[in-house]
Amino acid sequence: MTTVNNAPEVAIIGAGVTGMATAWHLSQRGVRVVVIDRVGVGSGMTAIQPGGVRTQWADNDTFELAKESQSFYENFVERTGAQKDPELVHCGYAFVASKPETLEALRATVKEQNAQGVESRMLTPDELAEMVPGLAVDHILGGSFNGSDGYLNSPGAPVAGFAAGAMREGAEVLLEAVKSLERVADGWVLHFGSGETMNVKKVVVAAGAESAKLLAPLGVELPLVAEPRHLFYSDPISERLIEPLVIFQDEHFAVKHLADGSVLASDLVPLPEGAVADESAIRRDLVAKGNRLIETLAYVRFPVMVTGYYDVTPDQQLLLGPVGDLPGLVLACGLNGRGMMLAPAVGRVVADVVVSGNIEAVPTSMRPDRFADGVIRKREQMVI
Ligand SMILES: Cc1cc2nc3c(=O)[nH]c(=O)nc-3n(C[C@H](O)[C@H](O)[C@H](O)COP(=O)(O)OP(=O)(O)OC[C@H]3O[C@@H](n4cnc5c(N)ncnc54)[C@H](O)[C@@H]3O)c2cc1C
Repeated sequence: MTTVNNAPEVAIIGAGVTGMATAWHLSQRGVRVVVIDRVGVGSGMTAIQPGGVRTQWADNDTFELAKESQSFYENFVERTGAQKDPELVHCGYAFVASKPETLEALRATVKEQNAQGVESRMLTPDELAEMVPGLAVDHILGGSFNGSDGYLNSPGAPVAGFAAGAMREGAEVLLEAVKSLERVADGWVLHFGSGETMNVKKVVVAAGAESAKLLAPLGVELPLVAEPRHLFYSDPISERLIEPLVIFQDEHFAVKHLADGSVLASDLVPLPEGAVADESAIRRDLVAKGNRLIETLAYVRFPVMVTGYYDVTPDQQLLLGPVGDLPGLVLACGLNGRGMMLAPAVGRVVADVVVSGNIEAVPTSMRPDRFADGVIRKREQMVI
């Protein structure tokens, strides 16, 4: 049996930003935690994401968690004692619509957000063109903008800060691959790839899309799949080309000029399940879209391509909280491409559930049992 310094009450599987934020919140409440990862802290999708943070979401529950998290990031160093500030910069996010139904959905979202006190607004094509130099306006119908949305200039800082803060309170990180989970009378036994085992009272599964594979042997079928997404980085360019962050929702294309001078372009078209990513085809698509949508992008080369995966649910909403009739097992997965911007609030919600055992802490749209009758009630529309 593997032992760590203090016998842990809670094991968190996955040391990404979700697992580490949860570890931080639990440690703050005096809960003894061990975080287990087969690679290390912040090594999964947390290492790939570029740090986008926004409150422009269609669903109120997402919006609330995003708002809470943004305010946490604004005071990250004070809250966690971290050495490095993630540097939340409010560059603004412009969503651009080229289809009438997309424009109407953005309008409805803006109305909803305004009712919640968020100052997003609709923009005409001309207003967008004034904001985004080189934007080709011929095929766009308008868009929405929120100047308080933004970017973490140091997107690796949150996971490191949460990890350091949790460890100062006694949390430990263990490098092991969890092979399986076994339910026993007073909790859970984790079986590791090394052949070792560990007994804990409760388990949080924060293993991204791989959470589904871990739980399948327990008879739990999580509606969770890994969907590839691609990021492209240019060499640094000193002239500022693009402000703010622009998302072409109908084209699944986003572009941002980062603080280090490189331009980040994202081709966010989800591939059909099982399809194999063909780099040349993806590059061709990216270049064609970039040239068509923003003139200035025709002069930018993107030598670096990075592929990552969203952990996606059928309604593109999170999976948080207890699962089935398995006491002490709590999910923290299904982040659907927004784990970094929601991590502070997700960690708080998951810690609430672990400590209280009460599902009420979880917004209804994110509870795992919502799929029990096979009906998808509401889909989050603003995932890109
Ligand atoms: C291209 C791309 C762009 C993105 N952009 C943004 C963005 O701008 N803003 C934003 O908020 N989000 C963004 N995201 C999403 C964000 O990266 C994720 O939602 C977030 O990192 C999820 O963190 P996590 O801790 O849940 O998962 P991960 O960071 O993937 O961590 C899961 C961990 O579990 C470990 N693990 C899995 N199985 C096991 C096992 N059996 N045993 C032990 N360890 C295991 C893995 O090693 C991994 O370290 C983006 C994602 C991608 C792919």
